[in-house]
Amino acid sequence: MAIIKIQKGTKDILPSDMPIWHFMEEKANEVFTKYGAKEIRTPIFEATELFARGVGDTTDIVNKEMYTFEKSDRSLTLRPENTAGVVRSFIENGMHRLSAPVKLWYKGPMFRYERPQAGRQRQFHQVGIEVFGIKQATADAEVIMMAVDYLKSLGLNDLTVELNTLGCPKCREEFKKNLKDVIRPYLPQLCEDCQTRFEKNPLRLLDCKSPECQEVYAKPEIQAVIQGDFICEECSEHFNELLSYLDTLGIKYERNKLLVRGLDYYNRTVFEIKSNNLGSQNAVCGGGRYDSLVKNLGGEDTPAIGFAMGMERLASLLGEKKEEKLTAFVVSNNIAEAIKLTEELRLKGITCEFDLTNKKFVKQLEKASKVAKYAVILGEDEISKGEVTVKNLDTSEQKTVKRNNIVLN
Ligand code: ATP
Ligand code: MG
Repeated sequence: MAIIKIQKGTKDILPSDMPIWHFMEEKANEVFTKYGAKEIRTPIFEATELFARGVGDTTDIVNKEMYTFEKSDRSLTLRPENTAGVVRSFIENGMHRLSAPVKLWYKGPMFRYERPQAGRQRQFHQVGIEVFGIKQATADAEVIMMAVDYLKSLGLNDLTVELNTLGCPKCREEFKKNLKDVIRPYLPQLCEDCQTRFEKNPLRLLDCKSPECQEVYAKPEIQAVIQGDFICEECSEHFNELLSYLDTLGIKYERNKLLVRGLDYYNRTVFEIKSNNLGSQNAVCGGGRYDSLVKNLGGEDTPAIGFAMGMERLASLLGEKKEEKLTAFVVSNNIAEAIKLTEELRLKGITCEFDLTNKKFVKQLEKASKVAKYAVILGEDEISKGEVTVKNLDTSEQKTVKRNNIVLN
């Protein structure tokens, strides 16, 4: 019969990959908890409308990448990202009544119908943070600090923080107009996507990955607008305050005026963290401030800022981690006693197995040396005396101890 294969753009996370995944998940819990963040788990599918409104219907994510299906006349979508879901839950559970800041972190699978390639899958995982209720730049600094701290806890130091400010809708208006004016003469040379973006969301023109479009945007008169200053006084103050906190924290950053990010909801601070060791899909983290999203999704006016990191990209930077061996393997031809002892050891918190097929003693010992750090040997002699022989399988040292006195470390 034909074998049924895994779907394009998806991957099994195999037992041999698990040490890295557990490491990333445990560190997330450890680091984010230090900042007072709490974990939240929201559903993997939501109403399509949530993403159309929450992510923005001029984005690639919503226009091209969503897994949408109908069920009982409802349009549902597998989440392509988790900010919209967390914001929905924040609103629905009245979390604006909690004392600010409300800091939530999440991890889990996301789904985007993209062309699979290195660093780009159709089901991938993100770990992320959302901080609600603080409009001051201290929250921006703390969120960036959390990202950097988490990456450091994984041992990743060779990373660059890129930073930009998009201003507020007010100051952005003039920038958009100026940008459109200088780009208009080149409109026929731009890709189809950029032609649509030009009217719907001109800021996103700068985000285009097509080399032809980037060539146009590199023209001096266009660069003059991009590199010029359009940020209003309040937004500039916010940004400069953030930069001063980052300096205080010793976090290095680079200003990148082309950084506009894919999603519609961002205002003021946007940032990405990039690795020099990842080839073309080099962003491990993307984030920013989204002060109008909670209100746009029907909640109380609540400022917010967050980030998401791609866990597969992190995993590929972390390389391999060895699978842990079992602590003990019980070696005995008396099955009843082997079962009992194995259970006793597990109750003490020791990872332990015995030979389910009751092979010859020597075969059991061979198996033990492959899978475990210690063989706990239970011959008839030991059973009658209430003892066991513990053999360290690295050093071959062994000693006989009372059964209720087994210490393995
Ligand atoms: P990109 O420019 O790489 O498409 P993005 O702007 O779509 O990124 P975000 O929505 O900001 O990405 O997601 C945050 C992070 O999630 C990215 O920095 C990346 O590490 C990861 N990520 C995004 N899409 C994918 C994907 N299809 N496969 C694997 N990881 C992804
Ligand atoms: Mg993308």
